[in-house]
Order: sequence, then structure tokens, then C-alpha cells
Amino acid sequence: MTMIVNNLQQVQARIVTACTAAGREAASVRLLAVSKTFPPEALREAYAAGQRAFGENYVQEGLAKIHMLADLRGEIEWHCIGPLQSNKTRPVAEHFDWVHSIDRLKIAERLSEQRPDGLAPLQVCLQVNVDGGANKSGVPAGEAPALARAVAKLPRLKLRGLMAIPEPAPDFEAQRALFMRAAAVYEQVRGEGIALDVLSLGMSADLEAAIAAGSTMVRIGTAIFGGRS
Ligand SMILES: *Cc1c(COP(=O)(O)O)cnc(C)c1O
Repeated sequence: MTMIVNNLQQVQARIVTACTAAGREAASVRLLAVSKTFPPEALREAYAAGQRAFGENYVQEGLAKIHMLADLRGEIEWHCIGPLQSNKTRPVAEHFDWVHSIDRLKIAERLSEQRPDGLAPLQVCLQVNVDGGANKSGVPAGEAPALARAVAKLPRLKLRGLMAIPEPAPDFEAQRALFMRAAAVYEQVRGEGIALDVLSLGMSADLEAAIAAGSTMVRIGTAIFGGRS
């Protein structure tokens, strides 16, 4: 068994254990393999082991991999999870399936306008800043419901949920408390009648705390592919 296949199994086992501890079904959490900085061969290994959803941070790098893995197009789901500038939205709208990092209406409007008619709507999450300034990316939590209402109306996007990347916290309970802030915004938006079903929380170091807080999609890089230089 290759290292990547072995790592994938270990991450899946961590997800099952965390779900059991939280009294949740293991099937309620999806695994997004974050492949930034790793070559297409690494993604092929993960694909051969059954992994289908891959996350990339940098638009150019992601596009290059989508191109190099074109033979698997239709099988792989490509997620853009990094910060997006408005001059980079077109290739994202044309080539990715998901965007997790929408933090302002202008980006969402451009993605909707640029999403080709022949493709399914772009699946999107709003990135919420739950640290209040410590981490600059993301819409402030208080502004997230208004942004969600506006994004939900865009014709070529399908608003699926929220994503957050809280600062690392010293222990499990502190980390869970930060993730719970994102979960609270998620419930608030759902309470307004906007049908979200994705809470994108948790990375290699903190997926257990994220699952305890209600994450439905963990974004895992290092624990699958190894350290990045
Ligand atoms: C790199 C990255 C991840 C994965 O982080 P690991 O700690 O390597 O698991 C998840 N989400 C985002 C937005 C990232 O940039």
C-alpha cells in the first residue's frame, strides 16, 4: 500500500472515530483532499483509492492539475478553497465545480455571470471570519446572513454553506468553541429559510474539534499527502 493510500485510510478512521464521539453518522462528513503543492501523480494515487473530491488553493496550479487530469474530468470534483481576486474569477467559473472562499458579493456576481450555461451551477460556500480580525479572510460573521441572502439569488451559483478557518487554538475545547461560532452563523442563516447543507470546517490538525462542532466537510492536506515545503 502506498503512503497516500495508507494516510487516506487513517484520515477516514479519524473521521469515523470523531463522528462516533460526537454521536453522528460517519456518512454525514465528506472528505475533501487538499492537494495544493502536490503533483498530479499524488492525486491519481488518491483517486485510485477512491478519493473523488480535491481542493486547490491557487488558481493557476489548480487549472494546471485539472488539465493534466483531464482524463478523469467528470469523475473528480474540483474545489477552489483559496482566496479569490476578482480578476481570477473567470477560469474558476469555467473549470471548477465548487468555491469555498466567497467573501464578498462582487466575487459571487462575477462567478455567476461567468459560469458557462452548459455546466451545472457552481456550488459555493461563503468564507466566514469567526476570529474577528485576527484572520483577515472571510466576511465578518455579522455580515454573513446578508451576503448569504444576496448570493442565494444569483442564477448560476448554488449556495451550499459556510467555510471557516479559525486561528489555531491551544486545545480541543478552545478549537471547538471557535468552530461553534461558524456553526452558529450556519444555523442563523438556515433559520432565515436559506437551505444550506455544507459546513466546511476542519483541517489535518483539528478535524476532530470541527466534527464535534458540526462540520460536514473536512479539508485535509498534510495528513493525506504529507508535509508541504
Ligand atoms: C492548506 C489548506 C487546508 C489543508 O490544510 P492541512 O493542515 O494541510 O490539512 C485546508 N483548507 C485550506 C483553505 C487550506 O488552505
